[in-house]
Amino acid sequence: MFKDIPVDVGVIYEGERIRRNDMQIELGGPSIKEKFELARVKSMDEIEDGKVTIIGPDIKDMKEGGVYPLGILVEAAGAKIDQGLEGVIERRIHGYMNFIEGFMHLNQRYDIWMRLSKKSFQKGLNSFDYIGRVLHRLFKSELPIIEKVQITFFTDPAKVSELFPDAMQAYETRDAKARGLKDEEVDKFYGCVLCQSFAPTHLCVITPQRYSNCGAISWFDGRASASIDPKGPVFAIERGELINAEKGEFSGINEAVKKRTLGEVNKVWLYTAFDHPHTSCGCFEAVSFYIPEVDGFGVVNRSFKGVTVNGLPFSTLADSTAGGRQVDGFHGMSIEYMRSSKFLAADGGWNRVVWLPKEVKTRVKDFIPADLVDKIATEETAQSTDALKAFLREKSHPVVARWTEEAPVAEEVAQLEAVAEEGAMMQVATAATLPIVAGGFKIILKDAKIYAKKVIIRSMKSEKSQG
Ligand code: SF4
Repeated sequence: MFKDIPVDVGVIYEGERIRRNDMQIELGGPSIKEKFELARVKSMDEIEDGKVTIIGPDIKDMKEGGVYPLGILVEAAGAKIDQGLEGVIERRIHGYMNFIEGFMHLNQRYDIWMRLSKKSFQKGLNSFDYIGRVLHRLFKSELPIIEKVQITFFTDPAKVSELFPDAMQAYETRDAKARGLKDEEVDKFYGCVLCQSFAPTHLCVITPQRYSNCGAISWFDGRASASIDPKGPVFAIERGELINAEKGEFSGINEAVKKRTLGEVNKVWLYTAFDHPHTSCGCFEAVSFYIPEVDGFGVVNRSFKGVTVNGLPFSTLADSTAGGRQVDGFHGMSIEYMRSSKFLAADGGWNRVVWLPKEVKTRVKDFIPADLVDKIATEETAQSTDALKAFLREKSHPVVARWTEEAPVAEEVAQLEAVAEEGAMMQVATAATLPIVAGGFKIILKDAKIYAKKVIIRSMKSEKSQG
């Protein structure tokens, strides 16, 4: 596509995955604490159009297989752009970098994670200068409203650390501006399909009270993006008729998801994790997960390093919810959504949240009802569901009132036989997509509901002691 760039550049490379064994270098990612990408709008005289600066070691100076910190600063100017477009410009970094053959960009803001393949490095992609040139050209051609753009890559760890707090402050200022507006006060929502290259049936519905899953696009950013680039990945969705206020079902959203997912998803309920939850792509900031043992929800963010209260790390929970699916009880979301009064509103909102990493709890503390703050466990106060149960009971968390009498437990085997009436069938499971592998075939049940005549629940401990 560009003669002076040693590798190809085009939409066909979007969604390309680069495995650890194939990578030349990794930039940011889970093992690097401080990393960022940030867009700033400046005045015309502050920007030197096309300038690319590298502060710290360049790609060719990095060790094969090495992992490095990275900060990217995109500074743009134009007679018709202002700071309200910074979020829109910043999110395009993800798409444009993924156009580069052998370059993978995941996530956003302070969570960025990139890999360059050995193959592209061997073809000559050995400098951030090439990547900067690609970004410059794509910004100018895809968003002509940008008249000048300069790009700086920071790989010097000290410089990344120095600038990291400024970037975090810039995100917070942007997010704070978008708070206050309510879903019922607008007649348009926005949709984003930027992540369909990784999750073809995913569409983010962005409303004033439900931030995008990646946490990088507010309703205001959606509006700005759709107005400057109506044919781009972000588009307006007519709100339509309100079908269910509690669950957050709107006819306009249902029509849009049906159309944009080619019929794979027919309905999305915005404010619940059950039945028709919002789909999840792969670059969500956090996952909310149902904990059946206590009938409550946990939330875990991408940078949480340990295992959650149910014994699973973020990566496993993310794999179980990602890919554009609707998974009952699980969904990817932004941290900003936790600051919304619609956060899991149909499921009980904060009254149903029982576990959070301490770091997330600190970040959203001002948005948790004051009487609940100490009733929500963290990795420091509950490391297992048994410990969580005891913690919630001791603190009189509101979910405790939902617990019915303990199931009768026999001495050796806990067996529950529940048959509502002779011959009646009970619904025991639902799933948007349920794969069954048998006899060399994979059978996929869509929108499955499974019924059984009898349900037997056995304690695994008891089974072990029996064996
Ligand atoms: S997570 Fe959603 S809003 Fe963010 S880039 Fe992906 S599709 Fe767009």
